[in-house]
Amino acid sequence: MISVHGLTKVFPGGVRALDSLDLEIGEGEFFALLGPSGCGKTTLLRTIAGLETPTSGSVVIGGTDVTALPPGRRDVAMVFQDYALFPHMDVTDNIAYPLRIRKVPRARRRARAAEVADRLSLTELLGRRPGQLSGGQQQRVALARAIACHPRAFLFDEPLSNLDARLRLEARTFLKRLQDELGVTTVFVTHDQGEALALAHRIAVMDAGRVAQVGTPAEVFHRPATTFVASFIGSTPMNLLPGRMGDGALHVAGAVLPVPGDPPGGEAGRGAGDGGDGGEIVYGVRPEYTDLSTTRRDDGFAGEVAVLENLGTATLVTLEGPGHLVQAVVPEGREPALGTTAWAVPRPGRALLYRDDVLVGRA
Ligand code: ATP
Repeated sequence: MISVHGLTKVFPGGVRALDSLDLEIGEGEFFALLGPSGCGKTTLLRTIAGLETPTSGSVVIGGTDVTALPPGRRDVAMVFQDYALFPHMDVTDNIAYPLRIRKVPRARRRARAAEVADRLSLTELLGRRPGQLSGGQQQRVALARAIACHPRAFLFDEPLSNLDARLRLEARTFLKRLQDELGVTTVFVTHDQGEALALAHRIAVMDAGRVAQVGTPAEVFHRPATTFVASFIGSTPMNLLPGRMGDGALHVAGAVLPVPGDPPGGEAGRGAGDGGDGGEIVYGVRPEYTDLSTTRRDDGFAGEVAVLENLGTATLVTLEGPGHLVQAVVPEGREPALGTTAWAVPRPGRALLYRDDVLVGRA
């Protein structure tokens, strides 16, 4: 439905915001662009919308190369972070605005605005101006305006970022249901990995103008392709510990761990085993897949309990060992005392092995 090929954007002054980027987004997909500040998410979205001209490369929407077309002829609707509503127009006129631009007669515009407003529970607010609405209501008006003219795709730039934490969760569920119902291809930018995991069918994790990984939420969460993706995805960051292979074992932060016997991933798995003696690796395991023992374990990372953070139904425990920090999530009430020694033990099959920052296997 939307594809970009070799897309590069160099801003005046030399900032390379997009670097030979390729991406394919399917019909009806809810697709997230995720990444740290400055990685090029907004530039990519604006280039798809036609608000930025790429330095090189192309944008194809619905089989048509639109690279040279102005935004108004791309048949996509963009919702901006600040909603960009017209303050002097009431809700009806704001929703109907894109139809007015398309010269739809007034009666049909108002009927369509009323229909979309009904769907988004805005009917009672139709006569108000944006200044008389809450942030959540303004966001729904911006969505309604995007929906009004039946675009082929929605492009959302951080649509939830101006809402407070509770409203944000409500709006997230609302957005998910709406996209399910309408089935319109949607690309949305976020720097919030929780939002991307919760909403998207697929996620592109971006790093410095490039795509580090494209996958379903489960793929990027359970099999992050690089240490960059591994450290970016997850509500608590993945433990990433340097180690080496030798003597038929993995030696990581004082622990001796079994080398993966039958690693999934074929070539990648063999790559992990090929390291032989002295092969340097990075060992990754999520705190949620790390158990704590208060008795010595050779297959555990020893450390002093340095921090306890309450997560509600669980506690995040930080162990400080010689030259490393390791975190584990333990059920509430099971946390060890501060200052005591404990061993963080990765669950078998849950660890990931990286060589030169690229995933090579599971342990
Ligand atoms: P954020 O999450 O902070 O919004 P982002 O991932 O959306 O970040 P972009 O806004 O796409 O990042 O910016 C990518 C890079 O391009 C940044 O280094 C930014 O400073 C630069 N940039 C963006 N717009 C311009 C511009 N008009 N002129 C010059 N540099 C720009």
